[in-house]
Amino acid sequence: GMPSAEGEHSPALAEGQRIARVQIETAAALELDYVIPEKLERHIGIGTRVMVPLQNQRVAAVVIELLESSSYNARLKEIASLVGTRPMFTPGLLKLAHWISDYYVVPVNRVLRTMLPQAVREKPETFLTDSHLKLAKEPPPDIFEKMHANAPMQARILEKLRSNGGEATLSELRRELPRATAIIKPLLKAGWITRSEVRVERDPFQTEEFLPSQPLTLTEEQQVAYVAVMKAIHREAGTAASVGESVEAGKIAAIAGQAERSTSEQRPPSTLLLHGVTGSGKTEVYLQAIAQVLDMGKTALVLVPEISLTPQTIERFKARFSEKSDAIAVLHSHLSDGERHDEWFKVHEGRAKIVIGARSAIFAPLENMGLIIVDEEHEPSYKQEDAPRYHARDVAVVRGRIEHCAVLLGSATPSLESFQNATLGKYELLNMTRRTDGKSMPLIRIVDMRLERRKGTEVSFTNTGILSQRLRMAIQDRLTKKEQTILFLNRRGFNTSLSCVACGETVQCQECAIPMTLHKKDNRLVCHICGARRVPPSKCPSCKEPGLKYAGFGTERVEQAVREVFPQARMARVDTDTMQRKNQLRDTLKDFRAQKLDILIGTQMIAKGLDFPNVTLVGVLNADTALNIPDFRAAERTFQLLVQVAGRSGRGEVKGEVFVQTHAPHSPAIQFSRHTDYDGYALQELEHRLAFKYPPYTHVVLVSARGKHETQAEFTLQTLYKRLEQGLPAGTIMGEPTPASLAKAHGQHRFQLLLRSEKIRVLCAHIKRVVDGLTVPADIYVSWDVDPMNV
Ligand code: ADP
Ligand code: ZN
Repeated sequence: GMPSAEGEHSPALAEGQRIARVQIETAAALELDYVIPEKLERHIGIGTRVMVPLQNQRVAAVVIELLESSSYNARLKEIASLVGTRPMFTPGLLKLAHWISDYYVVPVNRVLRTMLPQAVREKPETFLTDSHLKLAKEPPPDIFEKMHANAPMQARILEKLRSNGGEATLSELRRELPRATAIIKPLLKAGWITRSEVRVERDPFQTEEFLPSQPLTLTEEQQVAYVAVMKAIHREAGTAASVGESVEAGKIAAIAGQAERSTSEQRPPSTLLLHGVTGSGKTEVYLQAIAQVLDMGKTALVLVPEISLTPQTIERFKARFSEKSDAIAVLHSHLSDGERHDEWFKVHEGRAKIVIGARSAIFAPLENMGLIIVDEEHEPSYKQEDAPRYHARDVAVVRGRIEHCAVLLGSATPSLESFQNATLGKYELLNMTRRTDGKSMPLIRIVDMRLERRKGTEVSFTNTGILSQRLRMAIQDRLTKKEQTILFLNRRGFNTSLSCVACGETVQCQECAIPMTLHKKDNRLVCHICGARRVPPSKCPSCKEPGLKYAGFGTERVEQAVREVFPQARMARVDTDTMQRKNQLRDTLKDFRAQKLDILIGTQMIAKGLDFPNVTLVGVLNADTALNIPDFRAAERTFQLLVQVAGRSGRGEVKGEVFVQTHAPHSPAIQFSRHTDYDGYALQELEHRLAFKYPPYTHVVLVSARGKHETQAEFTLQTLYKRLEQGLPAGTIMGEPTPASLAKAHGQHRFQLLLRSEKIRVLCAHIKRVVDGLTVPADIYVSWDVDPMNV
């Protein structure tokens, strides 16, 4: 323990007075002891947020331990005040914060700050309220008549209340009478009506109606998976009861560690990997397991990638639990601050029993948890790119251990890390290999674009390389049959580069050193990293020659090509450029589902979690975009993407077809995806990872240095490299310092260094020691990322 900042007014510790050890929220790893004043005694527990005096200031802090005595108690100050009425961190979340701090090597205060939404941290318990007005007594007829003559507005309000069963809210009245706030004052004073304040929830789904849905009869495969999940839930609920009280105050990190060890003992793993092909009914398994969890009086948390958190997804949950739809809280980044605040408090106050959300929802303050579900567990967006750089799936597994609840990871294309954990028996593997509708997977046809180009089969010169002849014929066929088509390309804009014919230079963003993309609608070059925009130059910025040439295509260009070839088709484009307006995405998807559109062109916004029964054709316009990124997961990503996109086709009565256009038809990712052969692909890729010592056989740490000055950033990383070499833990593989794959972003030059080891904690301890001992120039930032998803 450490003493709190010395103060002359420190009270002596009275008999029976207790001490709180707190973590200061704004200072890295600063734990201090404070005396709990008698008036706050009853309100302070572990996880309470408080204000404490520190160096003539008041700062926010979190109580992490309660003590009977402190070795420094002669000089302790008192806690000044409470923030919020109940502890904002559950004991489980505090343990989790320490685990994250430890594993990702990030100060615990940073983790604690991340755990609370900003609105909750900065303005806790600021709810919207409304006045509830009630008719207190009936005015006698003569008074009422007088009122009609002298104060007709007042009379109108009384009549309105009367016709409304004697009550109304002020905001209801104001819809008819904008000045109602002023008009009710004399009525209140005269005692005709009474007023009380009620809380109004900002509910993002206020206007939505949900048709109730009934549980479906599970298929055999679903039944097997469901039973396994229920067994794990009950097993964990059993241990939770027996562990119960041993989870005492204090020694938080130690307990998290202990929870971790206890799983390696004999009992079966409580983390399950549900590997189910698209359409095998994973969501139905989730829904029925959650229903049971609620019946047990427990709570459930469902993580979904941000991009799949569509109204359609939420609707499925709200519809199933429609009688308890209030018991569902939704947490994601598209809510307003107020909505997020209110949804969070719905969980905090124990009213929400189910939380659905994106990455940061893993920190939802649920208690008494029965099940955590991570859908699409392979999704890279579960990794946070700024400190704390946590991976929500991995954090979910740890939270499951801490809370003694089951964890269910679901995917049609599990990450190799999870697949390996299942193979090793750390996770229980559940397979669902068949679609619930009994349909076979779609036919996947690989189109070699190199041949296509040689044959010269393009419709016109300007459409080169966008639509192969085979894909064009397939689209035409669907238009004739009144079936639908999805065209997928993970690049926005019209052309993806502009370069000079004379000198070969490409027009790049000044700040980010990547080619700028033409957006034709407003005729601007746009940087997709920093958003910088400029008018396309008419002459080469470098050699001043005219004759700049556009190349590469994005979704905007595809739309034009498709309109040119199929002028009669009804189509829409879905990307972040076209989907700016609120509800636009939902409306477009609704139209597509209602078959008011024939063709949907889009980026990854349409690759996930969508189910359109009349889509029988999917075209992947360029499968190579993901394959060509310099990342050891490039092939894994490509395979996942192809299988996911293919899953959009043929979900209805007709068998689907998928065309994959590529310049690398023989790469394993493309060949295995052709038969949706996950196991074949995974085993092949694992061999490769083993040979080159990449995850899941090692852990990666990516150390980077960035700053405005290129040479300084590079030199800093070089120095770091030399120091890391000394005493490098045995078994560590360290690469050379190199420019990052995004060598410049937002005006900062970036260099990186990749380290790999089987012993992640030993490696991180070494890195931390070296970085802490290094003097870094003021405007150079050094950071490191444990288990990075982008290298
Ligand atoms: P996944 O999440 O694995 O892609 P879904 O849960 O979305 O699959 O299910 C695909 C489709 O199958 C949905 O339309 C769903 O309503 C339907 N479905 C799921 N389970 C069953 C079942 N047991 N019987 C009939 N239809 C089912
Ligand atoms: Zn830029």
